[in-house]
Amino acid sequence: TSNALLGPAQIRDLAGRLGVRPTKTLGQNFVHDAGTVRKIVRAAGLTPGQRVVEVGPGLGSLTLGLLEAGMSVVAVEIDPVLAAQLPDTIATMAPERAGDLTVILQDALTVKELPGPPPTALVANLPYNVAVPVLLTFLERFDTLERVLVMVQAEVADRLAAPPGNRTYGIPSVKAAWYATARRTATIGRSVFWPVPNVDSALVLLERRDHPQTLATRKRVFQVVDAAFAQRRKTLRGALAGLAGSPALAQEALEAAGVDPGARGERLTVVEFARIAEALDAAAA
Ligand code: SAM
Repeated sequence: TSNALLGPAQIRDLAGRLGVRPTKTLGQNFVHDAGTVRKIVRAAGLTPGQRVVEVGPGLGSLTLGLLEAGMSVVAVEIDPVLAAQLPDTIATMAPERAGDLTVILQDALTVKELPGPPPTALVANLPYNVAVPVLLTFLERFDTLERVLVMVQAEVADRLAAPPGNRTYGIPSVKAAWYATARRTATIGRSVFWPVPNVDSALVLLERRDHPQTLATRKRVFQVVDAAFAQRRKTLRGALAGLAGSPALAQEALEAAGVDPGARGERLTVVEFARIAEALDAAAA
């Protein structure tokens, strides 16, 4: 099966036949390297027969890799030309696996349900401009997803996997940590893509865990996170004054949560953010 993936010639052919002009807006950079595809599939640590959702299958590079590894795939693609072509590509290149693919034409950010068995993994080479929202939306909406392996811009990978206090720790780090542990597993050079992007990429593996125990809702916790990082230079007391009603009320809630009101958001764990949200709710009740 080692020739069954898309190389540079096949990508060029397919794109030419379909008249595909890759757009930056949709983050269309297609992988034309079989080694990279197999590396992504391996890094995901899947079990044959597993149900996998792929966001943005594009010309099918990674889809073929997932099918080759024995997965059952539901793929969500926003581009009508690409979505329409994908079943034909699979039927030609991997006819014996074609029955294990379902393609949906839709914006991944608006997908409410997926056909077939609930997927237990998300594997994707994400469109760069919506990578974080897609990732968070899928973790929130599909709680059967236990593992996520995504290729994203290297800087985004760093942010997703950053621990508190790290230079790149921020909103994506805390929100991802609400759902999962995140680990950056590999760097991928830009030469494996057509067209060649002007950034490097990296793989991030997320493994779901229970979210922090708290009486506050997930929405409320995320509100606190957004407020804490909206004004990075402010202390938490200042940054949360708006949400609390006043700096004094923010100070009270922070103290009740056992967090130093003079600290900044970039030092707090997701558990501390959850405690603050709970304390703010308790003060308002
Ligand atoms: N998986 C393919 C590969 O590895 O070669 C293509 C990856 S390319 C980086 C991103 C893909 O996501 C493109 O096919 C693009 O059309 C699609 N896409 C962009 N925005 C999307 C969205 N909001 N929902 C679903 N697909 C989207």
